[in-house]
Amino acid sequence: MVLQSQRQLDEILSGELLKEYKTVHAMIKIYCAKHHGVLHGLCEECAELSEYAKTKLDRCVFGQNKPTCNRCPVHCYRPKPKETMRAVMRFSGPRMLFKHPLLAIRHLRHEKKGVPEVPKQNVSNRHLRKQAKSEKQ
Ligand SMILES: [Zn+2]
Repeated sequence: MVLQSQRQLDEILSGELLKEYKTVHAMIKIYCAKHHGVLHGLCEECAELSEYAKTKLDRCVFGQNKPTCNRCPVHCYRPKPKETMRAVMRFSGPRMLFKHPLLAIRHLRHEKKGVPEVPKQNVSNRHLRKQAKSEKQ
């Protein structure tokens, strides 16, 4: 069940949201290798965090205009995963430049762009996806 939803979401995210997810996933991987000794894939705890991040990206109210998470005015994470994610970012952030320079540079550029206003309409990836689906029927 979990695996299936993971596969589905990989296909669901696109554009900026997918790049953002790849960045987050790469950061969790760096963190997991160092802190949990898992060199291929992720430990259960980190896999769960990655999955959680993916769901949040899918539901992000900014949709494709999402600001970087650390500057976002909307607090969508629950306290526990938020705390863990903070630790991941703090640890992996500086290491990203060496491991994944392209993703890291994109993220830094993105960060400079500033924060858009919260859209009045729901433009989350999830919402648009559901809308597209219901229009087809
Ligand atoms: Zn781990």
